[in-house]
Amino acid sequence: MFDKILIANRGEIACRVIATCRRLGVATVAVYSEADAAARHVRLADQAVCIGAAAARDSYLRIPAIIDAARQCGAQAIHPGYGFLSENPQFAQSCLAAGLIFIGPPVAAMRAMSSKASAKQLMQRCGVPLLPGYHGEEQDPAHLRREAERIGYPVLIKATAGGGGKGMRVVESAAVFDERLASCQREARASFNDARVLLEKYLQQPRHIEVQIFGDNDGQIVHLFERDCSAQRRHQKVLEEAPAPHLSEAQRERMTRAACDAARAVDYTGAGTVEFLLEAGGGFYFMEMNTRIQVEHPVTEMITGLDLVEWQLRVAAGEALPLSQQQIAMHGHAIEVRLYAEVPEAGFLPSSGTLRRFELPAASGALRIETGIEAGDRVGIDYDPMLAKLIVHAGTRREAVAALRAALSQVRIAGVGNNVMFLRRLAASRTFAAGRLDIGFIERERALVAGAPKPPDAAVLAAAALWTIRQERPAAPCAWNAGDGWRLNGFLTRTLEFDCVGVADAATGAAAPAAPSAVAVQYRADGLRLAIGERTAAALLRAQDSDSFYLQYGAEGVRLQIEEEAGQLHIVVGDDEYRLHRRDPLRSSADAYVAEASLAAPMPGRVIAQLVTAGSAVIKGEPLLILEAMKMEHTICAPANGTVRGYRAAVGEQVREGWDLIDFEATPGSPSPGSPSPEVPRP
Ligand code: ADP
Repeated sequence: MFDKILIANRGEIACRVIATCRRLGVATVAVYSEADAAARHVRLADQAVCIGAAAARDSYLRIPAIIDAARQCGAQAIHPGYGFLSENPQFAQSCLAAGLIFIGPPVAAMRAMSSKASAKQLMQRCGVPLLPGYHGEEQDPAHLRREAERIGYPVLIKATAGGGGKGMRVVESAAVFDERLASCQREARASFNDARVLLEKYLQQPRHIEVQIFGDNDGQIVHLFERDCSAQRRHQKVLEEAPAPHLSEAQRERMTRAACDAARAVDYTGAGTVEFLLEAGGGFYFMEMNTRIQVEHPVTEMITGLDLVEWQLRVAAGEALPLSQQQIAMHGHAIEVRLYAEVPEAGFLPSSGTLRRFELPAASGALRIETGIEAGDRVGIDYDPMLAKLIVHAGTRREAVAALRAALSQVRIAGVGNNVMFLRRLAASRTFAAGRLDIGFIERERALVAGAPKPPDAAVLAAAALWTIRQERPAAPCAWNAGDGWRLNGFLTRTLEFDCVGVADAATGAAAPAAPSAVAVQYRADGLRLAIGERTAAALLRAQDSDSFYLQYGAEGVRLQIEEEAGQLHIVVGDDEYRLHRRDPLRSSADAYVAEASLAAPMPGRVIAQLVTAGSAVIKGEPLLILEAMKMEHTICAPANGTVRGYRAAVGEQVREGWDLIDFEATPGSPSPGSPSPEVPRP
């Protein structure tokens, strides 16, 4: 075993690798960018070396700086984690050239699998099933269009060098082929510096099933069962589980055998994952092989009781695999969810900011927490916006789902947009409980993404009103329940009005303002009475801890959470979340929403396309501009029917968050201009 290794990564995976090294008595060297000087992985490692500026290409992707750091510190090997340089054969080669061991497969195996196109050609030769597609070198658009016609629509265009769901476009018909191809190539060039694409038959409702494999230097290849990663948004995983629900033993046998064949075909060593799409009829097709540890490896660890990072280290150090296939067994069921700084209601757009609050449930044997971040840390735009992973393990899937729901109910995040409520809805959904998953189910079930578009009930409004009154009297925390509105000649009564946001607009998917809901507050000697709709009753809000309250409204008692963020009240009751704005009586409602219709950049980025010419009349929801941010494309759409007077940022221009991008004039009387699409929370 090694004495010391360097970890060429950051965040949770760097911390995860450090944990195993510690247990095995292997010293660790962290590398970090200037933005990560105080990061958790730097504090956990035995040594740390700064390798450059915040942008990944100036630090975590700088091969010479990382190799120098390893040499300086006397590390014998480099663990690449996932992402960054983990699947870069040139990096592996540079490690070897510098006399360092790369903790991963042989360079040739990485090369063979690093291009989705050449991997598919290879798999075809060794009999692993493939979807109909085009994986050739010829990239002329007319040729690609002909190939798409041959395959038959719908087809999927994928960046050959792609990963992380980036550079993928579904094409439903020939009419949109050219436009989608151009957009895919742009994203591929920006993300991977390689505009080549491949085409594939697009399956409507397959499952994503992947097989964890391991190989050693004696030529032994084993599998560690499968993971179901069908819970995806934007073709990116958000929840993974093992074993795959409703997978027959015969199907498992076929898929794990194909995965081992794929690994054998490239003389694989170390940890790898072979990804398949599985159709309802049982047909399955090779998608790609990831030649590294996966984000979701902990679910496999939970069901097998093995430490995959330990296996990686042992194999890289020249040892044989610790167990044979017959000795590897699985027990129970494990589920992982990924907490992200992103806004599900706004097309899962990443969010940045300072984590004001970040509380996770306590880890236990049945609940594992992986994170590289802490309250007070900044979530920037330079790296992946994953905040943490929660992994539960139980005897059965049903118990694991219950444990997941319990764990998620204890998560508290504030300061950045996040997907916690989305994950709670997902974990509570009937489709998920039944294990009837396919890669499109999240996007089909709009209520999962946007939350229940139902208006707040009386209890929610009562809580909003009591909270608002309390905030007006910060110096007297108890007085908001007291009758100080008492007047000699009667009661003081006032009306508070709230708008409930988060009710999705069908055209743009953006949050649209709903009709206001009114609460008439009566200050009486014995406390507050609230009149909401038909009901008037005494109301009391008791604080339980910093954000948990017990509301008593007449005979009704409800436990809820209340948080205020950027002038918006977030009220959570069970798995439902309501976002309310107090309506300012001094501002007309029309003004309030016109102000929000500014077509501002939702995040820092670069303008890559202006989609209409100045002076064009457009309809609500029509795409107007494409912004590239965090290596993904975001489309800004018309918030209402109107006219684009002009663009305020040129193609190629870098823009800051909040920049007004488009000079837009709404047509008077057109559908109420909501917020720009997608809507993002204001900082
Ligand atoms: P990446 O490397 O970017 O993650 P993958 O090739 O692994 O890209 O595909 C990511 C996801 O895209 C898959 O999990 C699946 O949901 C979807 N996908 C990929 N290929 C197809 C296809 N041919 N038909 C339908 N969905 C697909």
